[in-house]
Amino acid sequence: MEAFEQAKEILEGFTLEEAERVISVYACSQCEGNLVMVPSEWNMDTWLVICPDCGNVEQIGRISKTTVAIRNERGVFDFPRAIRALPEFWGSLIKDRKTMLEELGF
Ligand SMILES: [Zn+2]
Repeated sequence: MEAFEQAKEILEGFTLEEAERVISVYACSQCEGNLVMVPSEWNMDTWLVICPDCGNVEQIGRISKTTVAIRNERGVFDFPRAIRALPEFWGSLIKDRKTMLEELGF
């Protein structure tokens, strides 16, 4: 069976309006990258939403861009704690006591 015949059986696809909404609201659930829309091979009115790296959104799932943004913001706050937990790897980035006290004006 041809690849697009298989795809036609398992993928429903989206209308143009739906596809535009999906790519504006969601990101790939696997890599959190942007989704893109492509016309289906079997119907000019049917669009597929895909992640170029991971596959079709109907199979791989999606995550809201808002959730991705929240995760990224949390990551910024987690970074200093992670560095402190790994002094053997990041020791040069952690200021020693003397430097810290100098910066505080002592
Ligand atoms: Zn992806």
